[in-house]
Amino acid sequence: MKESALHVLDGVEQPSQVNPYLKAHRRKSFLLQKQDYIKGIQQGDRVILSQAITLIESNRNDQRQLAQEIVDACLPLAGNSIRIGITGVPGAGKSTFIDTYGSLLTKRGHKVAVLAIDPSSERSKGSILGDKTRMERLSVDANAFVRPSPSGNTLGGVARKTRETIILCEAAGFDRIIVETVGVGQSETAVHGMVDFFLLILISGAGDELQGIKRGIMEMADCIAINKADGDNIAAATRAKTQYTAALHLFPPTESGWTPLVETCSALEHTGVEKIEEIIQRYVQLTRNNHYFELNRRNQLSNSMHAFIEDELKNSLFSNPQMQEKLQQAEVLLQQQVKSPYKIGQELLEFYHQL
Ligand code: GDP
Repeated sequence: MKESALHVLDGVEQPSQVNPYLKAHRRKSFLLQKQDYIKGIQQGDRVILSQAITLIESNRNDQRQLAQEIVDACLPLAGNSIRIGITGVPGAGKSTFIDTYGSLLTKRGHKVAVLAIDPSSERSKGSILGDKTRMERLSVDANAFVRPSPSGNTLGGVARKTRETIILCEAAGFDRIIVETVGVGQSETAVHGMVDFFLLILISGAGDELQGIKRGIMEMADCIAINKADGDNIAAATRAKTQYTAALHLFPPTESGWTPLVETCSALEHTGVEKIEEIIQRYVQLTRNNHYFELNRRNQLSNSMHAFIEDELKNSLFSNPQMQEKLQQAEVLLQQQVKSPYKIGQELLEFYHQL
C-alpha cells in the first residue's frame, strides 16, 4: 500500500493562516516600496513614476498616506521646471498643439510631462482628455510623459492630485510641465493656480471673434494662440489676432509686468509654434528678473493650502450625519420665515463647533 501512487501523505498540521508572516512582510515591503518609489522617481523611472501617480489618485487611505510621504520626499527635488497651462474650447486643437509643441521641446533636449484636468470625465464617464492617443508623437517619445486626467468627485480634489503629480514629475527630471484643460467651467482657474504661464488656444470663427470666450479666461491668459492658421484660414486667423490684441489692451495691466500677446499658429502644419515657445521664454526671463515668477509660486502654495482647508471643512461639515439632520430642520425654519438665513446659519455653525 505504501508503494501505491494513491498513497496520501499523513496530514500535516495546518497553520492558522496560509502565511502568518504575510502581514509583517507586507508592512516591511511597504516601507521598502516607499523608498523604491522615491529612488525610482529620482532616477527618472517612468514606470515607477506612473505607479506613484496611481497612488496619488487612489481613494484608499493607506495608499494616499504613502503617496503623501512620497510627495513630501520628492519636494526638495521639485520646482525646477516651467509649468505651462493650456486651455481652449474642445476642438480648438489643444492636443494637436501639445503634440507639436511638446515634440519641439523634446527635440531641444527638454523632458516634457503632459497632465490634464478634465472636469467632464466624471459626468460623461468617459474622459475627453483620457484618450491620449491623440498625441501620437508625444505618446511614443522617450522624453515625454503623457498622463490622462485623474478622476475625482470635486475639482478641488482633482486639482490637488494634479499639483502633487507635478511635484513627482519634476522630481523625475521633467523640466517642462504642460497642464491641459478643456475651456469650460471652473477648471481654467484651477489650472491657472498651478502654472507659471497660461496659454489660451482659440480659433478664428465667423462673425464676432470674441463671442463665447469668457472675459475671465482671457484675462488670465499670458498668450493667446489663434490656431489653425493654415490654408484658407490664414486671413481670418490674422484678423482674429488683431481683434484679440485690441481686446487684450482693454484689460488692466498684469501683476506680472508682462503684456499678454496674441500669435497665430498651425499645430497641424507646425508653423508658429516656435514663436509661442519664444514668447514663453521671454515671459520666464522677465518674471524671473522681476521676481514675479517666485512670488507667484509662493502665492500658489498659499492659495492651495487655503483651498484645501476650505474643501476639507466643507466636506466635514456637510457630510456629518448630525449636521445633515440639522440642515434639514433649518430648511423648514427658513420656509416658515421665522428667522433670517444668517441667524439660522449662525446657529448651525455653533452646533457644528460643539460637535
Ligand atoms: P482639442 O479638442 O482642443 O484637443 O482639439 P484637437 O487637437 O483634438 O483638434 C481638433 C481637430 O482640429 C482635429 O481634427 C485636428 O486635426 C484639427 N486641428 C488641430 N490643429 C489644427 C491646425 O492647426 N490646423 C487645422 N487645419 N486643423 C487642426
